[in-house]
Amino acid sequence: MFVDCRELPKGSQVSADLCIIGGGAAGITLALDFHERRYKVVLLESGGLERDDATQALYDGASVGMPYDSLANCRSRYLGGSTNCWLGWCRPLDDIDFQRRHWIAGSGWPFSREELLPYYNRAQSQLQLSPFDYHPLTWQKRLGPRKASFLTFGSSDIDNVINQLSPPSRFGTRYRSTLATASNIQVFLHANATELETNPTGRAVEKVHVTSLTGSAFSVVPRMVVLATGGIGKAWPINNLNTSPALGAARSIRASATGASRMSCVCCRLAQRWPPGPFQ
Ligand SMILES: Cc1cc2nc3c(=O)[nH]c(=O)nc-3n(C[C@H](O)[C@H](O)[C@H](O)COP(=O)(O)OP(=O)(O)OC[C@H]3O[C@@H](n4cnc5c(N)ncnc54)[C@H](O)[C@@H]3O)c2cc1C
Repeated sequence: MFVDCRELPKGSQVSADLCIIGGGAAGITLALDFHERRYKVVLLESGGLERDDATQALYDGASVGMPYDSLANCRSRYLGGSTNCWLGWCRPLDDIDFQRRHWIAGSGWPFSREELLPYYNRAQSQLQLSPFDYHPLTWQKRLGPRKASFLTFGSSDIDNVINQLSPPSRFGTRYRSTLATASNIQVFLHANATELETNPTGRAVEKVHVTSLTGSAFSVVPRMVVLATGGIGKAWPINNLNTSPALGAARSIRASATGASRMSCVCCRLAQRWPPGPFQ
């Protein structure tokens, strides 16, 4: 069921077994995992069903370091998140992506690639892909050497890899009717989570405060909260934990680490045509 947060009476309170903040690829996938189970799921999405400039502007912000596209331009802030603009290139992470690299502070994951394998299998159908197989040889056998030809490199450090291409799946449209008819999932649109209120020990979120751009406000009292606000977006609610002052130090450590290791596409110019001008 969809609820427009702008139409809720101010001060309303909603309870939930699971409160998911962010209706992008991660948030929608998780909500659908609970589809028609006995848990009450509340999904909070900042945007509506379509893009609107005022909500999109909430993604604006300063980017330091290498020059990059404006933060408001390179993501989508409405139901479906950045799957509304993604290109659909898919392949699993490699082993090395999980390893600590001594020259990169904070690198390394607390689990290995193996742990993700069952989830990768499930993600294939979610993204409308073929079965989970990224071995170049399998694809060469399947497509023939003309369609899947390998490049030869002089170094064993460089490999041929396979990407599968999603149509690309736009989660906000593809899963809209399932979310609309699910009896145990409530999707709140135009619902910006603005503050996480914790218990005195800071170990549990007791309330999620939510506001719309028109000023209406309500709160969710959850048993569990999942932040699914995207790579950069996740830093923000963590930095807005309303918790006891004694936890201030822990909070500033979290604040300095969150959002610091965002990965994105490298955009670079490989060649320039000379003289410049339209192709004939
Ligand atoms: C142009 C482009 C091309 C891409 N191409 C590819 C590709 O080819 N292959 C690939 O693997 N990946 C690609 N990506 C990346 C991919 O789209 C993201 O990794 C994926 O969408 C992340 O999913 P997510 O659910 O974590 O976050 P998002 O999709 O960003 O969703 C986050 C959601 O949280 C909501 N939100 C944010 N803050 C709040 C708040 N405070 N309260 C409530 N809701 C909030 C947002 O509105 C949004 O809907 C691309 C991304 C872009 C922008």
